[in-house]
Order: sequence, then C-alpha cells, then structure tokens
Amino acid sequence: MQNILRVDMTAKAITSEKIPEMYAKLGGRMLTSRIIRDEVPADCDPLGDSNKLVIAAGLLAGTPAPCSGRLSIGAKSPLTGTIKESNAGGVAAQKLAKSGIRAVVLEGKAEGPFILVINGTKGELLDAKDYVGMGNYQLVNELSEKYGNRNAYISVGPAGEMGLRAACIANNDPEGRPSRMSGRGGLGAVMGTKGLKAIVVMDAKEDNVNYADKKAFMDNAKAAIKAITDNPGTKGFTDYGTAALVNKTNTLGCLPTRNFSEGVFEGADKISGETVRETIIERQGSPSHRCMAGCVIACSNIYPDENGKEIVAPLEYETIGLMGSNLGIDDLDMIAELNYVCNDIGIDTIDTGAALGVAMEAGILEFGDGPKALKAIKSITERHEVLGRLLGNGAEITGKVLGVKRIPTVKGQAMPAYDPRGLKGLGVTYATSPMGADHTAGTTLRAPVDHRNPAVQAPAAQKSQRTVPIFDTLGLCMFSMGGLMSVRPVLVDMLNSRYGWTFTDEDLTSIGTEVLRIERSFNKSAGFTAKDDRLPEYFTKEVLPAADTVFDVPDEQLDWVNEDLD
Ligand code: SF4
Repeated sequence: MQNILRVDMTAKAITSEKIPEMYAKLGGRMLTSRIIRDEVPADCDPLGDSNKLVIAAGLLAGTPAPCSGRLSIGAKSPLTGTIKESNAGGVAAQKLAKSGIRAVVLEGKAEGPFILVINGTKGELLDAKDYVGMGNYQLVNELSEKYGNRNAYISVGPAGEMGLRAACIANNDPEGRPSRMSGRGGLGAVMGTKGLKAIVVMDAKEDNVNYADKKAFMDNAKAAIKAITDNPGTKGFTDYGTAALVNKTNTLGCLPTRNFSEGVFEGADKISGETVRETIIERQGSPSHRCMAGCVIACSNIYPDENGKEIVAPLEYETIGLMGSNLGIDDLDMIAELNYVCNDIGIDTIDTGAALGVAMEAGILEFGDGPKALKAIKSITERHEVLGRLLGNGAEITGKVLGVKRIPTVKGQAMPAYDPRGLKGLGVTYATSPMGADHTAGTTLRAPVDHRNPAVQAPAAQKSQRTVPIFDTLGLCMFSMGGLMSVRPVLVDMLNSRYGWTFTDEDLTSIGTEVLRIERSFNKSAGFTAKDDRLPEYFTKEVLPAADTVFDVPDEQLDWVNEDLD
C-alpha cells in the first residue's frame, strides 16, 4: 500500500491517506503535475499560501529497476509563473517508496522554520530555529548526527529561506552530500517560504515495496540493466560524466560563451570532460560516482583540490557551461568552488551562472574574473547586497534591472548550456516546454538530424519532449533512456509485475502526451499563450558567430509541437 502524506503548514496538521484511486497509477512528474493542476489555483502567488509543493517518488522507486530513484518535486514556479517539475537524483525517492509513501504534499504557510520528520507513513513537524540561515552542508551534517546517516534529507539553504526565485532544493547522495539539486524553477523559495527548512525521511525498518509478481519483476529488472550496460553511449557517461559534452557542444558551436554571445570557447580544453577526468584521477578523486543505489551508469564524480580534498561532487556539464565558458572562466577549481557555494546557499547554478553572465555584460564584473564571481555569489545571502539579491532571483530579473538587452531566458528561466542557434531542436524545446528553458524537458543533442536545419527540428523536439515524461513518471534517470527505449516491453512488464496492472505499450506512450496536456492546461489557466512559446527576439536576429546562423525555426513549427494537446 502507498500513501500520500499531506502536511498543512498553516494548521501544523499532518494526515496520511491511502493514495486515492484517481492518483493510484500516477507517480513522479505525472503525479506532481496532476496534483498541482487539480489543487493549486493557476493564478495564485507562487510564494503565497495557496501554492503547494508536491514531492513524489516515481512508479519504480524502491525497486531493483536500474537508475529508478529520481525524485520529482513540483509546484507553481516563482521564477516562471508556470507549473514546474524539478527532477533530481539522491536517495529520497527510494526512502519514501520503502516507507510506503508515493508523495508528500506541503500546503499552507507557517512562521518557520520547521523540520518535517517522516517515519514510516507518519510525519511530525519540529521546531528548526537552531538551523536558521544555515547552509545545506552544515545543516545535513548536523541532522545526520542527530537522526543518523542512513536517512534522506531534503533541504533548503538560506536562499530558499529568503524566498529568492532561483533557490533550489537539495537532496543528499548515498554518502550524505546535499548536492543532488532539484535546481530549476525556484522551488527552494516555495519550500522556504512555507516555513520548512528540511525534511528527514527516516530509513524504513520494513520495506513497503511489494510486487504482484516478484520473479517476473526481477527478470525484467535484469533485462533493463543489460539494456543500459550494453548501450554504446553508457561507457562515455561512466568515464567522463556529463562534462564529456563540453567538447561536443564546443565543436557544434553551441557552448555558451560570454553571455551566449559566442558558441566556441578558447578555454574549452581546460574545462572539458577529458580534463575533468584527468584532473580527478591525478588528484585521487573519483571520476565515476553513483548518486543513488541501483545506478548502473555512475555519471557523477567527486572533484578534489590539488591536495586531494573534495571541493564538490559532482562537477557537471551544465555548471561548467554556465559558470565556466559563459563567464569566460577556464579554471576548473574555480568553477568547482562556485558550484560548492551555490549548493551550500541552495541556489541553481544554471540561473545563477546566466545571471552572472548578464551582470558581466552590464559591466558590473569582468568576464573571466572568477574571484569576483565567487564574492558576488557569496553576497547572495547578505540581505543588504543588491547584486547578490539580483543574482539570487535569476538571470531575467538581474538582466532587466541592469538594463541588459541580451537575457538568455524563456518564460523567466535561464537557458542551460546549449546556445539554441547551434542546437536548434533544443531551442524548440526551450520555447515550447511548459516549464521555460530546460534541457531536461527534451534535448535533441543525440537526435539524428542536422542541428542547424530549421525545417527538421520541431518533430525531433516533440519526440524528445514526449519521451522524457515517461522517464520522469517512472522515476528513471534520463541517462538510461538510450538503453531502455530499446526494450520498451521491459518497462511495461516492470510496471505490470510491480503493481498487477495490464499496462500496454500504448499506455506507456500516452504518459508523455498526458503529462504535457496536464501541464499546458495549468499554464493556459495561468494566462500563458502561444506567444509565450518563443525565444527572446535577439536569438532570431543576431547571428551566433560559431554557428553562423540565427534561431530561424518558424513560429508555425513552434506552434505545431503542441497543437494536438490543447
Ligand atoms: S546516471 Fe548519473 S544522474 Fe543518473 S542515476 Fe546514475 S549517477 Fe545519478
């Protein structure tokens, strides 16, 4: 049996109920988006008491299905005003599933902060005044000392407590680092302003994950593992992690460089996946690391300084792109330090890197000046520091206040580390995803298309955008997609042998369209129209030198991507 735990922060009341029939076949992103669409007024203040924060495990969480512990967190986003699902690794989804909890719904608002301790299917709110203003690393250290190191910790840093719109939510990895970020959309601000500093999910003594047919499930899980490990793309992720993309995007001419003004970075070699790996090995760190038990890819890493002391784990492509080349910084140690401070404060590295990029374009800082960028990030938690307050609210607010013309955002959210003029299919996703600019909503980097031909991008982006929600709903890591999409019946059989359902391949496919339909209907009620499904105009007018092109996918093609969903 699986429950929904509802936490009314206003009344300090907690109820645990059997998952209602209408939500029984939903998990992960499909469940967070459905509850938000059903229960949150689309026109509400995202930081007010009508918004809800929904934390959901995927349908395969807690099982031996490989890479199946991704956690979905959803709300109305204070950054974009749209519905948002932010997806992260770490141990929380598996701990929730083993406790018998499919989702936690936070409602209302309290004068906090509080800590929610979940034990089995029950929860308790405890005073957290001792932790006010504490960074994520010290917080999780202290909580681990108090509650133990086998639990899941979901927390916000000072940025979330301050309600800053680029604040994120941290989830701990198996060794306890609060470094698996639900990064996008400012959901840390929603959690923080509800008065919640952290959630402790106690490691369940009894495993509540049951199977309709355990043997069939295990057989299919083995087939899934084989499909992933046999996939030719997996080894690259294991050896070089996502940082392998630096050389790929630099070659394609879409590595964001100096506030998305160039697509090739002269320092790319110094920040490439190969250099990350060599540096880590030389310093005796770990070039491959798992963010959750059951991951068979291990795309993460532990990046140490020259004395072998860990700076941050993991150091990944998006952060390298936004806080490296996008800022003209080619020093991996500096990028790792910027990353660590962002994690500790609890702020999204993508939006913060993009915000620093526009601040550099405005002349507030120099491109390439790592120490000043670090100082600026540290000032985010200084309430009287205006630049810090701007950065903490993301690239769009920073750019508008500073009068910058080139602000790389869609629906208020910063673009990840791919210039849409060099990778036009992802530009289509940036424009048409219900969540603003988001590479995880449907990248086309591996699609077999000419990435600069405007005529072929919309179908590739549509296909990717409709596949991703399947993985987000099952709780599967997107890096397993290459292997698992080649064995779709295995995914169907795992669901059926876990729950005793009679799911079909068509049911699996329909998850993709249904999730997007739900999310778009929320956005429509919030006032979003086709006019919002566009990139900033300058991307359509200013040639990106490295790619020698503008973003020229026609508006009709952008509208075509979702026209059958509304
Ligand atoms: S592949 Fe990477 S992100 Fe995915 S589950 Fe494994 S370590 Fe986590």
